[in-house]
Amino acid sequence: MPWTDLLAAVVAAAIVTQIAAAVTTVYLHRSLAHRALTLHPALVLPSRLVIWITTGMRPREWAAVHRKHHAATDTDEDPHSPAVLGFWRVQLGNAGLYRRAARDPETLRKYARDLPADRLDRLFLDHAFAGLAVGITILVVVMWALGFPLWVGFLAAGLHAAGYLLLSGAINAVGHRFGTQPYENSATNGRVLALLTAGEGLHNNHHAAPTSARFALHRGEIDPGWWLVRVLVACNLAEVRHEDVKLKRVA
Ligand SMILES: [Zn+2]
Ligand SMILES: [Zn+2]
Repeated sequence: MPWTDLLAAVVAAAIVTQIAAAVTTVYLHRSLAHRALTLHPALVLPSRLVIWITTGMRPREWAAVHRKHHAATDTDEDPHSPAVLGFWRVQLGNAGLYRRAARDPETLRKYARDLPADRLDRLFLDHAFAGLAVGITILVVVMWALGFPLWVGFLAAGLHAAGYLLLSGAINAVGHRFGTQPYENSATNGRVLALLTAGEGLHNNHHAAPTSARFALHRGEIDPGWWLVRVLVACNLAEVRHEDVKLKRVA
């Protein structure tokens, strides 16, 4: 097992995880769940396909669970609150908590009425295992075409899955426990986490201004997801709902 093969698997996994993180934050989170920006229809289909083959998640379920998190942050109703369920349960069990909330028909009825399933969902995108199988096959074939043995692609897929799950868990666990709190809410900002998650680590800012497409609100904060949004806006592929940041009124 030459070290170059291992390194190739790690690099490939990191690239796939970053692509998945970028589409998660820009499409699933900022656009679909919060309507902070509108993506050009030409970008929506590729975004749906990327989410399908890199995560197997259903966008309308992700949006519903996430909207419920905002509506009931750190209460018994919150699908993944470290304050209620404990830090490690959310950090390591985030995907299971997400699934449990997504399976409750009430979650979708209440929080995703505007996101009905379409034909493409019913035929393909609702089938998580099919999407993941396509994604793993692409990764294995690409790595093989680049001259690496087949196992490198499989290892990269496994590392990506672990990386994506841990980072998603960290946004919900670390992002409600460790970090700075410039605004009055229970979420926290973590600059390192923000770098690893295309800006999602600026979670205290996000809870303060959920309809803002930009998460970096102070000097020195880095939000790669916002850079991507700006590139898309410059290419006429996205429209931001409001340029000025609207802070949520604290009760
Ligand atoms: Zn949160
Ligand atoms: Zn949000």
